[in-house]
Amino acid sequence: MSQQRAFKVRVVEVIAETPDARSIVVEPEVADASHFGYRPGQFLTLNIPTDREGGAARCYSLSSSPSLDERLKITVKRTEGGYGSNWVCDHLGVDDVIEVLAPSGTFTPRSLDVDFLLFAAGSGITPVMSILKTALHEGSGKVALVYANRDEQSVIFRDELVALEKAYDDRLQVIHLLESVQGLPRARTLEQLAGMWADRHVFMCGPEPFMDAVTAAVSEAGVTPDRVHHEKFLSLGSDPFADSVVELDDAGPTSTVEVTLDGATTTLAWPRSNKLLDVLLAAGLEAPYSCREGNCSACACIVLEGDLEMERNEVLEAEDIAEGIVLGCQAVPLSDRLRITYDQ
Ligand SMILES: Cc1cc2nc3c(=O)[nH]c(=O)nc-3n(C[C@H](O)[C@H](O)[C@H](O)COP(=O)(O)OP(=O)(O)OC[C@H]3O[C@@H](n4cnc5c(N)ncnc54)[C@H](O)[C@@H]3O)c2cc1C
Repeated sequence: MSQQRAFKVRVVEVIAETPDARSIVVEPEVADASHFGYRPGQFLTLNIPTDREGGAARCYSLSSSPSLDERLKITVKRTEGGYGSNWVCDHLGVDDVIEVLAPSGTFTPRSLDVDFLLFAAGSGITPVMSILKTALHEGSGKVALVYANRDEQSVIFRDELVALEKAYDDRLQVIHLLESVQGLPRARTLEQLAGMWADRHVFMCGPEPFMDAVTAAVSEAGVTPDRVHHEKFLSLGSDPFADSVVELDDAGPTSTVEVTLDGATTTLAWPRSNKLLDVLLAAGLEAPYSCREGNCSACACIVLEGDLEMERNEVLEAEDIAEGIVLGCQAVPLSDRLRITYDQ
């Protein structure tokens, strides 16, 4: 049996952002603080209490900025008929303690000193807000945010965005698209907006039809794919908080992997038909993961030497892969020796 490291955090504030969205500010225990450094755009995985078989772990992006906000804040919008989001909005209160996994994810800018074109719809503003605030505070470039919502009432962070536009009037431009005013965002509108800033780095997050429309618009506007980044919001299908029993298939050829995790380097045999994450868990290492389905990037690590392939990848983009980033939960080896790190 093996398990990755989970942490308890205490809720210190609950903010009603809109009628259906709440921000939850949390604080880890002092001894765990070093595990909670994060980059803008990353997320926490919450262990939502449930009697349901398979648990109810859910990922929520950090809307706080690592360089501005002392505490970590997630922002959760109710999904109609959804279990986790409604539980958070209805039940999580100040002084409650909830179990989480350390921050993770690859939806984060490589550099903050570039110009950004951000697209968000509804709760998709959460990771985008963290990127926006951090880029304005730490970076030197310009930022344009195209933000789509149902109506004015449902605009999360409306006042904060107004204040930021005032404070950074030469660097920040916010364009609101409201369904109640203009209808759903039209392809032509999105293309025109993308065309105004086609030389920028694009980060987008929102419901699937919005992401599809924005992806088509930025491609039409000539933004090169290496500058386009997506975050997909999905519910996890498995429970990363449960004990996991990993049985390796050690028939057939075996590679050797030297893996660095939490400052320690371990050399392991890697039977080639097994995924890296399973090999590490079977060896008792506390490797990170959430979905185990190639959907969320919580298990991302970097290949320093050797070749491998991923059976499934719904989240890493061409630029990530070019930098050697792989999903541990999907990686199987191709070469005899590999060196991998989780610590960069
Ligand atoms: C990296 C990442 C970051 C994220 N960040 C955020 C964030 O910052 N803010 C945010 O609000 N969300 C975020 N999400 C989404 C979040 O994790 C949840 O997916 C979301 O809150 C919905 O979860 P839920 O438990 O409320 O809904 P679920 O219970 O998962 O239900 C989702 C939908 O499926 C339907 N459904 C459920 N079960 C069935 C069934 N058996 N048959 C048919 N239909 C069914 C429900 O009616 C509902 O419409 C993120 C996701 C990822 C992967």
